[in-house]
Amino acid sequence: MRVRNKPWAKPYIEEHPNLIVTDPVPLKGNWQSRFSAVQPLHVEIGTGKGQFIVEMARLHPEINFLGIEIQTSVIAIALKKVVESELPNIQLILSDGADVDTFFDPNEIDEIYLNFSDPWPKTKHEKRRLTSAGFLKNYQDVLKPDGLLQFKTDNRGLFEYSLVSLNNFGMIFQGVWLDLHQANDEVEDVQTEYEQKFSALGPIYQVIAKFNQ
Ligand code: SAM
Repeated sequence: MRVRNKPWAKPYIEEHPNLIVTDPVPLKGNWQSRFSAVQPLHVEIGTGKGQFIVEMARLHPEINFLGIEIQTSVIAIALKKVVESELPNIQLILSDGADVDTFFDPNEIDEIYLNFSDPWPKTKHEKRRLTSAGFLKNYQDVLKPDGLLQFKTDNRGLFEYSLVSLNNFGMIFQGVWLDLHQANDEVEDVQTEYEQKFSALGPIYQVIAKFNQ
């Protein structure tokens, strides 16, 4: 996602240290202290403008949500939504999701969401894909043994790559959807900004998997 540089973004982020963390490493093992209640922790990597994570927090007051986003001008838009929501169970991190193993203790996270991750279609950029083996290793390090990884995308090539990557890592599939919006089951689908924009053009793919501990 490319957005124009927003001069207001950095000062706005600095005004809200209670809702957004820019130096996550010192909070390793202590993320529950950022929330008003100790409860399961779900993390979205590549949160974008925040529609998914804020709506999830609204629907699930029994869960604490953390959105990680690497771009300052993008997460500032998510932060606006978090501020307006006044919800006690949502926090943001401005940082690179590649480093989650340095932000969290083992077993600190119950669930990780990857929504419409950047496809990085060139083979030489494979390591940047959020479902490549290096990322999976870091997710495994911080997820609880039964913790779930949920990935959805409109990009068929990235989805095919991800199924192979998760399988080669030994993950166990809990569910695969080749057209999430036409699914007959009662699966919850809180839509992201990208999902709303691109679902008219083709199917949305989803996989939910856990690590084989
Ligand atoms: N999840 C949102 C949605 O579905 O509307 C945004 C999708 S957008 C295509 C991908 C987002 O992931 C961008 O905002 C990008 O900056 C962010 N991103 C990419 N790599 C990342 C990383 N390593 N750590 C954190 N965020 C990342």
